Amino acid sequence: MTAKLIDGKTISADLRGSVTDAVHRLRRDRGIVPGLAVVLVGKNPASEVYVRNKSKAVTESGMHPFDRHLPENVSETDLLNLIAELNADEQVNGILVQLPLPPQINANKVISAIDPDKDVDGFHPINVGRLASGLPGMVPCTPLGCIRLAKTVHPSLAGLEAVVIGRSNIVGKPVAQLLLTENATVTIAHSKTLDLPAVCARADLLVAALGRPEMVRGAWIKPGATVIDVGINRIAVAGSKPRLVGDVAYAEASEVAGAITPVPGGVGPMTIACLLLNTLRAACIQKGLPAPTI
Ligand code: NAP
Repeated sequence: MTAKLIDGKTISADLRGSVTDAVHRLRRDRGIVPGLAVVLVGKNPASEVYVRNKSKAVTESGMHPFDRHLPENVSETDLLNLIAELNADEQVNGILVQLPLPPQINANKVISAIDPDKDVDGFHPINVGRLASGLPGMVPCTPLGCIRLAKTVHPSLAGLEAVVIGRSNIVGKPVAQLLLTENATVTIAHSKTLDLPAVCARADLLVAALGRPEMVRGAWIKPGATVIDVGINRIAVAGSKPRLVGDVAYAEASEVAGAITPVPGGVGPMTIACLLLNTLRAACIQKGLPAPTI
């Protein structure tokens, strides 16, 4: 069997198109332009690339970017003051603080300082609690992207055996919560899980978010399963540029799975599209308008 490719590039382009149309209507009919503030501290090269891509996407969607770059040695107090300023700014509907932060700053304290209704990353404890309680709130972008990709294959996830490998606060746990909300039967695996291949073999839907290059082998996958590979790993290639690979051994897995996301071009582009969607939703909710059903 050769798996169907779940084309994150095309699916995310469609979503971004729908968000751009909705932003255009919001501006035309109500004079509202959603704004996203991306806060970058220091000069981490990977973070600089992510922030540049996010800002470009914000501008292309017709929203206002309010980027703020702070020096590596900024104090926690100065960063918290900036968050307070952005919380109070009515033009800013979403706030994202790019992680990781330098060691003098407590990331949990900074995330908790963001107005939960502007927390487009969905990392604020109030939004984590809302997700766990099945209440509406801001949902983290990468997990949201995973669910949207899975639903292109299974319009209903109800009753599926879902296995999520990874239990981080930013990917594994929220993916598992969202799958529960969708009525899947969910198992969360992690580094202490015994016999990971046997756990994976149960999965109709396998979400790999462990950060281990190509660790999930084709032989672990249930024939016909849907595989969502969240991993982004740079591996060195002698005499050439580093190569990006996922957490799943793609060539092997695509011989067994029914559908699979590639790396790159799977979950990655969905993350940015879902960030735009979250910013649009945040703007509508803050202005007392119904959130668009995109
Ligand atoms: P993380 O915080 O390092 O968490 C990794 C999780 O995987 C942990 O729960 C860990 O278990 C588990 N794990 C590690 N080794 C394992 C093993 N050998 N067997 C089973 N479980 C294992 O990573 P993350 O932030 O969740 O990110 C995961 C991957 O997704 C990374 O490759 C990251 O680059 C990628 N990512 C991609 C996007 C995107 O937009 N596509 C966004 C975010 C992250 P323990 O809890 O027991 O340590």
